[in-house]
Amino acid sequence: MNKQALKTPYFMIDESKLIANLEKAKRLKELSGAKLVLALKCFSTWGMFDIIKPYLDGTTSSGPYEVKLGYETFGGETHAYSVGYSEDDVKEVADICDKMIFNSQSQLAAYRHIVEGKASLGLRLNPGVSYAGQDLANPARKFSRLGVQCDHIEPAVFSEIDGVMFHMNCENKDEDAFIGLLNDISDKFGEHLDQLEWVSLGGGVFFTWPGYDIEKLAAALKAFSEKHGVQLYLEPGEAIITKTTDLVVTVVDVVENEIKTAIVDSATEAHRLDTLIYDEPASIAEASEEGAHQYVIGSCSCLAGDQFCVTQFDKPLEIGQRLHIMDSAGYTMVKLNWFNGLKMPSVYCERSNGDIEKLNEFGYDDFKRSLSQWSVS
Ligand SMILES: *Cc1c(COP(=O)(O)O)cnc(C)c1O
Repeated sequence: MNKQALKTPYFMIDESKLIANLEKAKRLKELSGAKLVLALKCFSTWGMFDIIKPYLDGTTSSGPYEVKLGYETFGGETHAYSVGYSEDDVKEVADICDKMIFNSQSQLAAYRHIVEGKASLGLRLNPGVSYAGQDLANPARKFSRLGVQCDHIEPAVFSEIDGVMFHMNCENKDEDAFIGLLNDISDKFGEHLDQLEWVSLGGGVFFTWPGYDIEKLAAALKAFSEKHGVQLYLEPGEAIITKTTDLVVTVVDVVENEIKTAIVDSATEAHRLDTLIYDEPASIAEASEEGAHQYVIGSCSCLAGDQFCVTQFDKPLEIGQRLHIMDSAGYTMVKLNWFNGLKMPSVYCERSNGDIEKLNEFGYDDFKRSLSQWSVS
């Protein structure tokens, strides 16, 4: 397949870049003894799992279908967690997961009898401290519903469970800040952790970021697991898939209203939702900081404020020109939606040998099917 012949919009996942991240994950595992499970809510394009599997220990989930997907397509250890399970969910999930992690003591009490003998039991605790840039994504925010708060824990619960999960980081690139949280957890919960088999420290540790001191992180994890006699887990999502994928779009028009806006055949609201939710502008591979030609990279949705970024180019943009919106893998393909009836991006992988393989493609029928399957009669 020739890239120029591919119809935009599409995602292109770069195998070599993914493997570079996975090699760092492998090194972290080897040095620390921690196990790593992929957080499917960030990236679950299962057509890529044959490449990821040899490097990680399994998957973790945020909802029932993710458990099934992890079990079917990834294998290894399947961790099941949800903020709120129904009894039906628990029955479905208990048979296929290795660890079942409840978000509250009430859910644990209600459903432990279904899980016992089938999977290892866990509880999410909220350490009350966190590292997160935005309140929306901060598990320790005021009135947080995520995990049991310290002062609500019934100490007896620790003899009924095998492990606990803490998730309190979001894109934490600072190893010392993470180690600070780890020490805090050890101080607050240490005597309880000593009774357990495993502790998961959740996701959001950005150990693949350039310059991240993996050795330092690994040493801290190893010391923690030895101190408390537990198997540690991390649940990376973004760290695994970061900087591997471009969303490739075409400029379909240029309009002017005091400033030039290049309209592309994609939208943040439909295809790169976190750009909008977290107000974090995208980066364009073709842009140049010093360029004399400034454009808004505007989406083709009807939402007035829907834009990818404002950036500069050396030359004026032309209609028909392609742009590569970088770092578009995590929390994108899992959130694609059909708003405005826009064309859904296809998904491709560029293999290390240069071959291009198609993982997904959508058409009008997929759009129609997502809206109704039957009409009222
Ligand atoms: C979101 C989440 C993760 C993955 O977070 P990343 O920031 O993508 O690493 C892991 N565990 C839990 C419980 C989560 O909610």
